[in-house]
Amino acid sequence: MDDDIEYEKIQPVYLPWHKPLLDRILSLKQQQRLPHAILIDLTSGEDGTEFIWHLVMLVLCTDAADVIPCGQCRSCELMLANTYPDFFYVSLLYGDKRKKMNRDIKIEQTRELIHQVHLTRHYDNLKVVAIYPAEKMNIASANSLLKTVEEPVPQVLILLVTHNKGKLPITIRSRCQILTLDQPEKQVALDWLLEQGMRAEESEKYLEFAGGDPLLALKLKAQGYAGLVDDFKQQFARYLKNSIDITTLATGLIKFDVGLVRLLVKMVINAYCYQLSGLDVSLQARKTASKAAAREIFALSGQAERQLMIEENNLNFQIQLEDLLISLKQIIKRSKD
Ligand SMILES: [Zn+2]
Repeated sequence: MDDDIEYEKIQPVYLPWHKPLLDRILSLKQQQRLPHAILIDLTSGEDGTEFIWHLVMLVLCTDAADVIPCGQCRSCELMLANTYPDFFYVSLLYGDKRKKMNRDIKIEQTRELIHQVHLTRHYDNLKVVAIYPAEKMNIASANSLLKTVEEPVPQVLILLVTHNKGKLPITIRSRCQILTLDQPEKQVALDWLLEQGMRAEESEKYLEFAGGDPLLALKLKAQGYAGLVDDFKQQFARYLKNSIDITTLATGLIKFDVGLVRLLVKMVINAYCYQLSGLDVSLQARKTASKAAAREIFALSGQAERQLMIEENNLNFQIQLEDLLISLKQIIKRSKD
């Protein structure tokens, strides 16, 4: 029976770099200037759900200290139990037919949220409704939400949280106050990685791999990404010298997680972008940067973004990967002629 399925409770997560945004929202609340709709733009890939839980718990808490909810008042207890009656959360649902997560947030879900907005509140506190990842609303869902975002209901806060605000219709964006959850300053990120048990020199390296995102850095470390990078450097050098063929190179790579391989290819192409355009000082600026090669590699980086999004079918991914690496080799060869 479906009723027997036990879902794991969502727990709030607070990370040091959330503080500026939480401070901002709290101060708006204290000044009673909280907008009725807030769009939060997450600049990293971190899980928005746990962040939203902390944010909502904080906004509802009656006894918070700074940006940390007390954990003991009625609101906190109910939020921790995932049963706060005046909080309604919409996210991607698991599709029973396809046996995987739905690709979009459906109109039935936003309709239910709109219904919730207009129900009487249980407590004399804010009601909060949240949608994450908001960019996954399909057009019908987004359209159905327009009127609700436009007409404030007293004591109701609508939170839209997204990894890609550009994908939301401008009609929605323009009706929300937009706030950004920025990536941490480098030192904050490094300190946090040290606290998680990473060694200093490792944290520098992994933070760079992760483009400044400490959570991704931690994940990459756990997955042994540095090993993949070293492995690839050796194998790619052999491939450039024709000691191994493309299938051997690609087969070695797809043993790793698709996400890691995608990141690696992106990083390698970016590194060549710098090198071929003669920009990277650490790689000794080339006196004769090849403009043609730089243009080609720039185009290849766009192509990589599109092609490597395919991940559902492994064979297809390998073909796309081989295709990209063959092109990369050709560009590198031509730039040396
Ligand atoms: Zn509390």
